[in-house]
Amino acid sequence: MSVVTAFLFEDRRLEDLHQALLDAYGPPPERECWSPLRQLVYSMLSSRTKTETSHEVLYALEKRFATWEQVRDAAVQDVMEVIAPVRFPEKKAPALQQALRRITRQNGGKLNLDFLHGHSEERIRRWLESFDGVGAKTSASVVNFSTIRGRALAVDSHHDRIAKRLHLVPQSVSAEETERRLLAMAPAAWGPEMLDEHHSLVKLHGQLRCTKIDFEKNCSTCPLLKMCPTGEEVVAGNREV
Ligand code: SF4
Repeated sequence: MSVVTAFLFEDRRLEDLHQALLDAYGPPPERECWSPLRQLVYSMLSSRTKTETSHEVLYALEKRFATWEQVRDAAVQDVMEVIAPVRFPEKKAPALQQALRRITRQNGGKLNLDFLHGHSEERIRRWLESFDGVGAKTSASVVNFSTIRGRALAVDSHHDRIAKRLHLVPQSVSAEETERRLLAMAPAAWGPEMLDEHHSLVKLHGQLRCTKIDFEKNCSTCPLLKMCPTGEEVVAGNREV
């Protein structure tokens, strides 16, 4: 492909999407990057749970137990009690304690993930995803949001849904595949901070407008309508509900 052809076919869809969301919502608050361990704990707790609830539970856990070692060594029932407001506490409490024990074992008796700094994103993610209760979204969050600040895109259910409604990815692909395709589409100049900002903007749009159900009422005034085949169908009345 010649340089001119490559230029003509340059895929700007993510940049256009990003700009439209920035125009609509403004820049998201700057993230305070946590240690990889704190981010892992938060992300393990937060799956299928509202952001505010996940934050409240993380703070409650830190208030009840002074250290992560204490969380690791507590009776599982005690951990379950504190994290009760998140979804599936009965699965998350043992998975979290198991993860904390394994990290300690594999890190020479120390409970932290500071040794991950400097490893490749791919290696870190493969290792994290070998833990029970850690999927692609959690590993991406640790790599991208924590002080590791590596290249990854945390594709949660909002992000996956919107990418599909915008036809950026086929309907049938998994969230992992959505991330892979979106990352391939993202401008090379987007570093970890931009990927984080992109994730935050898309998530916000999913929370406020392009919701899981009952989103159709928002399509006619949506800032993404011009680039959204689903929204166009809704507005034209051609979409089967
Ligand atoms: S136009 Fe409708 S379907 Fe498309 S992003 Fe906006 S709310 Fe979602």
